[in-house]
Order: sequence, then structure tokens, then C-alpha cells
Amino acid sequence: MKRREFIKKAGVGAAAVAASAIAAPSVIAQKTYNWKMVTTWPPNLPVLQTGTERFAQRVKDATGGRINIQVYAGGELVPPLSTFDAVSDGTVECGSGAAYYWAGKTPACQWFSAVPFGLNAQGNNAWFYSGGGLKLWEEVYAPFNVVPRPQGNTGVQMGGWFRKEMNTIGDFNGLKMRIPGLGGKVIAGAGGTVVLLAGGEIFTSLERGVLDATEWVGPMHDLRMGFYKAAPYYYYPGWHEPGTTLEVIFNKKAYESLPKDLQVILDAVAMETNLWSLSEFESGNGAALQELITKHKVNLKQFPADMMDELRKLAKEVLEEEANKDPLARKVHDAFKKFKAQVGVWGTVSENAYYNVIADKFSLKG
Ligand code: CA
Repeated sequence: MKRREFIKKAGVGAAAVAASAIAAPSVIAQKTYNWKMVTTWPPNLPVLQTGTERFAQRVKDATGGRINIQVYAGGELVPPLSTFDAVSDGTVECGSGAAYYWAGKTPACQWFSAVPFGLNAQGNNAWFYSGGGLKLWEEVYAPFNVVPRPQGNTGVQMGGWFRKEMNTIGDFNGLKMRIPGLGGKVIAGAGGTVVLLAGGEIFTSLERGVLDATEWVGPMHDLRMGFYKAAPYYYYPGWHEPGTTLEVIFNKKAYESLPKDLQVILDAVAMETNLWSLSEFESGNGAALQELITKHKVNLKQFPADMMDELRKLAKEVLEEEANKDPLARKVHDAFKKFKAQVGVWGTVSENAYYNVIADKFSLKG
């Protein structure tokens, strides 16, 4: 019987036999997935939106076209801040944003993007991949049927653009500043007025004095916004966003419907995009800072140490307040704090000590 079958197959040629005997099992797995992805980013925003488009292309290439993701920038399919809901309810299969946008849904998510005086990019990645952070993040998103993966990191951001010099914590009193998230809560604690504006409205508001100050991202994105024309003082460091993690999120059902090999590819490309994104920021920020200093002669200033101490105390209070909002937020906060202390001690004798050794070799004057 087997022999007769073999002869029958052999009749259609050796190539056909090879194809049916060898390729058949994988042919069964060759289902094509056509997915939609929405983001919180404006069209063409470098690294954030373009990185998400790169993610989709890399997934397509790595899967040989088995996963095709059509990417929609913020507002093209759903409003930017409806990204999480659209992924959660299955309107789309995946999305990209940052976890702190979803603080209204679950306060625990705020530890997964940017924590004032929290971890930098290296520390965040260590927490996610090797310190249990991603497991916690999955736990926080699970009730929403959403699976998170780190997909990028801005590195340490800049402190922001100010129309006046900032010498003491008292200078924040009455200051109108655009600064979102937990950092905004800290500034409010220092007596500042936090103003939330869409990206497109910030420059004009700063130029007209409706805003006294704004933070944005880092030199690369700040230069593009032209803030140096509206506010003369450019402060560092971005204590409020010391290594903001960007996310790719998947609808749980869609993610789990994939064969294992495709899940691994999505995870691997997300991880690769995370590294690519940080590299783009580090490289682009370095070049843009040089241009801001040498070409546009910006007044680059460091926040005074006393002011940082005061803001750090306020940040601690804000974080405790957020952690008290529900047991899951408390659990994430405590885990983050423990990990931060652990890598902080190591960082003191490694990265920090090393940067101090080489710092005087760099010039901020261009
Ligand atoms: Ca920012």
C-alpha cells in the first residue's frame, strides 16, 4: 500500500515528492496574519512613529510576510489616546505608545514608562528583561487583555526650556509649565501650574508667554520643535523622565492565536527595536545638542543640586501617593524601588564613577 502510494507520487516527479514530503508540514503553518496597529504618535515623528513603522517592516521581513502590520499614526484610525482601548477591545491587534498614558485606567502602569528620579534606560531594560519588571507589566495589563513589550527608550530626557533662570525650588512657584505625568505632579507640588497642551500648540504658547516653560524630549526632538527661538534657557537633566520606555502592545487573543515561532519573532523584533530606538536617541541627541550649542547658542544650564534634592523629596511623596491608590500599584512601586536601590549601588561604582572620571574631558561650550 505504502509502496503503491510512493510509486503514484513518484509519477508526478521527484520535485513534487520532495515538496509534499518535506514542505507540507510548514505549508500548514503558512497562514497569513493581516494586522492593524495604531499609535499615540504624530505622523513621521522621528524614532517614535518611524520606529513603529520600522517594527512593522522588520516583522514582515522576519516572518517572510506571514505577519503584515498596517501602521496608523495617532488620529488616522483612532484618536492617539484611544490606542490602549483599541488594542484592549480587539478593534486592532496591536499598538504603540507609552505606559504612563494609561494612568487613568490603572495607576500601576506609571512605573513602566518614566519614574521621576527613577531608572535610566539601562536600568529599565535590566528591570524588564532580567529583574522581573516585564512579568509585573504583563500582570498589570492582563485584566485589559493586553500584552506589553518594551519597544523603545528615549534615554535621559532634557529638563526643559525656561524663559527665566531657575535658581531655587521657589522659582517653580506660579511657573506655568507644560510637563505631563508624574513629573507634572511633582512640579504642581512645588507650586507650579501644570499646563497640558498638544504638541502642536506648545511652541506658540511658549513664545507668547502663555507658558513659562516646557519640557519635550531631548535635543533631537526639541531642536525640531524650535523651542530655542522661544525660551533662552535649556536645563538638564530630565529628572522627570530619566529613561522613558516606549511600548508595543498586543491584543492578548491576537497574540496568543499566533504559532509559537511568530510570537518569538514579535518579541525579538520588539527587543531589537528597543535597542535601535535608544541608539537613535543617543546618536541623534548628541548631534542635535552640538548644533544647539554651536549654531543656535542656547544657554545650557544644569539644575542646581539643592533644587534637585527638593524635587526628589517631592517625587518620593508623589510616588507614595500613587502607590497607595491600589494594591497592584503598591506591589509594582515596591518592586521598582527595591530593584532601583540594587542597581543604584552597582551604578554608583560603575557607570556613575566612570562618567565622573571622563566628564571633565567633555566641553559643553561647543
Ligand atoms: Ca518628555
